[in-house]
Amino acid sequence: MDEIRKKMQKLEEKVRHHQYLYYVKNSPEISDMEFDQLFKELQKLEEANPGYSSPNSPTKVVGSDLDNRFEKFTHKIPVLSLENTYNIAELNEWIQKTGIEHKYSIEWKIDGASIVLYYEKGELTKGVTRGTGGVGDDVTENIRTIKNIPLKLKEPLTIYVRGEVYMGFQDFEKLNESFGGKFANPRNLAAGTIKYKNSIQVTKRPLKIFTYDGYIPEGKVSKNSDMLEIMKKNLLPVSEDICFAKGKDIPDVIADFQKKKDALDYPVDGLVIKLDDISLRTKLGTTSHSPRWARAFKFDAIMKETTIINIDFAVGRTGKITPRANVEPIQLAGTTVKYATLHNQDYINELGVGIGAKVKVAKRGEIIPAVEKVIEPGPSGVFQLPQDCPACKTKLVKVDDSVDLFCPNKKCPDREKNSLIFFCQKKQMDIEGLGEKQVALLYDKKFIRSVVDLYDLYKKKDELMELEGFGKKSVEIILKGIEDSKQKDFKVVLPSLGLSEVGHKVTEILIENGFDDIDKIIEQAKSENPMESLLEIHGLGPRTVDSLIKNFTDKDVLKTIEKLKKAGLKFKAQVVKKSDFKPFENQSWCVTGSFENFQPRDKALEIITHYGGKKVSSVSSKTTHLLAGEAGGSKIKKAKELGVQIVNEKEFLEMLKEYGITL
Ligand SMILES: [Zn+2]
Repeated sequence: MDEIRKKMQKLEEKVRHHQYLYYVKNSPEISDMEFDQLFKELQKLEEANPGYSSPNSPTKVVGSDLDNRFEKFTHKIPVLSLENTYNIAELNEWIQKTGIEHKYSIEWKIDGASIVLYYEKGELTKGVTRGTGGVGDDVTENIRTIKNIPLKLKEPLTIYVRGEVYMGFQDFEKLNESFGGKFANPRNLAAGTIKYKNSIQVTKRPLKIFTYDGYIPEGKVSKNSDMLEIMKKNLLPVSEDICFAKGKDIPDVIADFQKKKDALDYPVDGLVIKLDDISLRTKLGTTSHSPRWARAFKFDAIMKETTIINIDFAVGRTGKITPRANVEPIQLAGTTVKYATLHNQDYINELGVGIGAKVKVAKRGEIIPAVEKVIEPGPSGVFQLPQDCPACKTKLVKVDDSVDLFCPNKKCPDREKNSLIFFCQKKQMDIEGLGEKQVALLYDKKFIRSVVDLYDLYKKKDELMELEGFGKKSVEIILKGIEDSKQKDFKVVLPSLGLSEVGHKVTEILIENGFDDIDKIIEQAKSENPMESLLEIHGLGPRTVDSLIKNFTDKDVLKTIEKLKKAGLKFKAQVVKKSDFKPFENQSWCVTGSFENFQPRDKALEIITHYGGKKVSSVSSKTTHLLAGEAGGSKIKKAKELGVQIVNEKEFLEMLKEYGITL
C-alpha cells in the first residue's frame, strides 16, 4: 500500500509543478491534454484510496495563478474552474444526468487569462485574477488599459463579471514579429501581460476581453441568458457566438461550432456548456473545485503521426542546447512540419523517445510543433543528449535550477555565430544584406568573429567581392547596411547586444527612468550599492537587476561597448526635441476615457507636450483642459465643477487641424 501512497504523492507534486508552469510562469511544458490526464489519474487514485488523499491535493483546489508581487484581493464570489472532458460520450452522460429537456448555453472556451471585474454603482473598481479561486491578484491598473473593457457601465449597476482576457492571432503575430518571435503563443503572452508590473507596458499589448458570466448581489436574475442581455446593454463585451439549446440538441450544436473553429481570430481550446436556469444551478451546487452545472468540452490539439529520422541540436546565442527531432514531413494546421522540438533531456526521458521512434507531433498553442507522444519507442532506445557541446566540445552545464543544458564557452562558434545573426536581425540592428545565411558564411570564412568586426568589414571590401555569391552589388549593400546601422538609436543598439535580460522591454524601462546613456548604466553597476536604486525602478525584478550588474561590470562586455562606441554606434538615447511652435503653451491638459485616433491615449498627451503644453494626471483648479474620450469617468464631473474646458476627440482633431499639426 505504501507504493500507492508514494505514487500519489509523486503525482500530486507533478500536477502542482505543471500548474505552476502554466498559471504562474505562463510557460507550460506539457500539453493541456497531458495535464488533464495526469489530473484525472490522480483523481482516480484518490477516489480508490480516500485514506491516502491529502486535503490540499490539487484536485481539491483551483490551480493557482497567485504572484507575490501583487496585492491580494478576496473574491466576493467563488471563482471556480470547470471540469473538463475530451470525450463526447462523457459529455452526453453528464447532460443525461443533468436533464436533456433543460436549456443550456454553449460558448467558446477562450484560451487566455481568467479575470473578475468588479463594478460598484457602474464604476469599474477592481480587476482581479482568478488566483486560488478564493483570493486573486489585484491587477486593476493593467485591466484598465484594455480597450474593450468599459470603465463605466451605462447603468449604475453593482455587478461582478467574469471574463477571459486574450490576444487575437493577428495581433499576436504582428507583435511577435517585432520581438523576433520570442513568444510561444497568444495564451501565454496574454496571461503574462496581465501580470506586468508596469501598466504602460500593458498598453502596448493588444489585449481584449470576452465577458461571459455576471453576478448582481442585489438583483434577481433567474436566467443566465437574461444576465448576458444586461451585460450587453452595459457595453460589456459578450461573444456573439453564444447560443442556447436543449440538452438533447447539444451534440448538433457542438458539430456546428467545430466547423467554425478554424476561422476564428482568437485562440479557443474548447466549448463551455452551462445550464441556463439559475435556480437549477443552485440546486445542483458545486464541488470545491468546479460547479456541477457546467462542463468544458475540450478540443484535442491537432496531432499527426510521423517517424523521427534524426535528432540534432541548436546551440543558441546564450549557449542553450535545444534538441529537435527531424521527422518525416507532415502537414499540420496548414504548414509542412519537418522539425519538432524535444525541449530538453527531461522531456525526452519522460516521453522515452529516440531516433526511429514512431511519434505524434502536435502544434502546441498552434505555433511551435512539438513531439507529444510516443507510439513505438524505436530501435535505439531513449535518446541521450551529449555531455559536450556539439559545436565546441566544451562540457555542458546546467544553470541554476533550469532543466536545460548550456554550453558555457563564450567563444563557442555556434554561440558567436548566433549572436551575430541576432545582432543583424530585422528586430535588432536591421542590417540590410546580412541575413542568417550571409552572416554564417562570413563567420565560417573568418571575416567576422564578433559584432565589432562588422564595423571593420569595409577594409576587406575586395576580398569580400571574391566570395562566392557576393558580387560587387551585394557587398555594397552590406557595407551600406552596416554604415546605416550607426544611426540606430540607443534603444535598439542596447538590446541588440544580446546581453541576458537586456531586451527591448528592459532597455525601454531603463531609458524611461533616466538611464538614457550607457555611461550612466555602467556607472550605476559599478557604484557601491548598485542594487538599491535599480530595484526601485518599476518593472525591474531582482533577477534582471542582478543580470544588469553582472553584464555591465563584465570586462569583455565593457570592451565590446567601448569598441562599438569608437566605431560610431549610438550609446546615448536620442532626446526628443520639442517643437518651437507652441500653440499649447501655458495650458495644462488632463485626459480621460478612450479614443479612436489615440491608442494608447497618452499619444494625445505626447502631441500636447511636444507643442508646448503640460500634461497632468488629475483634474485640479490649475488644469485648463480636459481631453475627454469615450466613457470618461469621474474626471468629467470634476472638470465641470471646476469650470475646466472639456474637449472631445472630434474637437481636439479640429484643433490640431487648425494648428496645422498632422498625426
Ligand atoms: Zn559550445
